[in-house]
Amino acid sequence: MNYYEPLLLTPGPTPVPKEINHALGLPMVGHRSPDFESIAKKAFNNLKPIFGTENEVMILTSSGTSVLEASMLNIVNPDDHFVVIVSGAFGNRFKQIAETYYKNVHIYNVEWGQSIDVKEFITYLNNLNHQISAVFTQFCETSTAVLHPVGELGKALKTFNQDIYFVVDGVSCIGAVDVNLERDYIDVLVSGSQKAIMLPPGLAFVAYNDRALKRFKEVTTPRFYLNLNKYFDSLQQDSTPFTPNVGLFRAVNAYAELIHSEGFENTIKRHYIIRDGLRLALNALDLELLVEDDFASPTVTSFIPTSKDELTHIKSTLKTRFNITIAGGQGKLKGKILRIGHMGKVSPFDMLSVISTLEIILTDYRQTNYIGKGLTKFSEVIHSEA
Ligand SMILES: *Cc1c(COP(=O)(O)O)cnc(C)c1O
Repeated sequence: MNYYEPLLLTPGPTPVPKEINHALGLPMVGHRSPDFESIAKKAFNNLKPIFGTENEVMILTSSGTSVLEASMLNIVNPDDHFVVIVSGAFGNRFKQIAETYYKNVHIYNVEWGQSIDVKEFITYLNNLNHQISAVFTQFCETSTAVLHPVGELGKALKTFNQDIYFVVDGVSCIGAVDVNLERDYIDVLVSGSQKAIMLPPGLAFVAYNDRALKRFKEVTTPRFYLNLNKYFDSLQQDSTPFTPNVGLFRAVNAYAELIHSEGFENTIKRHYIIRDGLRLALNALDLELLVEDDFASPTVTSFIPTSKDELTHIKSTLKTRFNITIAGGQGKLKGKILRIGHMGKVSPFDMLSVISTLEIILTDYRQTNYIGKGLTKFSEVIHSEA
């Protein structure tokens, strides 16, 4: 075990700032106390600008998948027909949840690594022989590193039929992207704590509009821990229906302070600069990118090493010689791609580390000199953004 700082560049969990760790270490308070109520009230409110909503954001003590499930069980009635867009491993998760509870599930497949073509999707809806009640999609499909055009999709969907509920999984990008429920025609937007929101794992978030809130009350699908009406009722009392992770609620407020001091617009901009610089650098290292520029995520980047052996070598050498962790592929991309997460606390400085170590590793491995090649490209982006 190394005692020095490791560099965690996975698309969740992400590095946790010391201010947040400090909040996590404060003494415990009872969760049915005015102490906790003031923490909770702040946390529900502090998340509003991050999720682009006027409504207080619900907070569950559970991982991101819980709110994928909750968003479905509280929006879709047992006999409804609805559509799940599957563009990668997390789309598959939505599909699995859907097929666990429902029988009228329609799957719209998008090639992994591609973004949703909104026109084609609307054509698909037009050709469906069923009235559908909801559409579920990822915002960033973490397994491929695609950022889908959810605003464009939301608008087209509501033009097609304004009664359809639009539910978005933003687990791997909320906190790093500009989103607005009203502008983007989103009814429910969910996320988790351990990705761009740079907290440890353990909290899940639900943002909703008034129409969705009304729907939560009407839906008859059985659910208990994930009944969002319970969370909304408690939220109005600055509380939670079940024992919350008190420390993580405090950490939400510490997070909000950090974002406030950086300025949320600057936080978003930092993610896009890192994305652009990293993509150019990887190109310069002859590492092929899986995703086109137009829909590349600002939070995670996927690339295709030239062979399986090279892939294994890069990932393991980063870890053993430099204590840098990146991620492999998931599902059908396992063994084919590597992914660098760059969200939350991750800075341009962290990118210098991973790019220069990749230069060293590839120079050794391919017997070609890459020293300085990636950093040169990265510095061009940093210069032009200054
Ligand atoms: C990480 C992730 C999830 C699942 O979150 P867990 O906290 O592991 O349950 C869901 N959707 C997306 C897009 C993710 O990246």
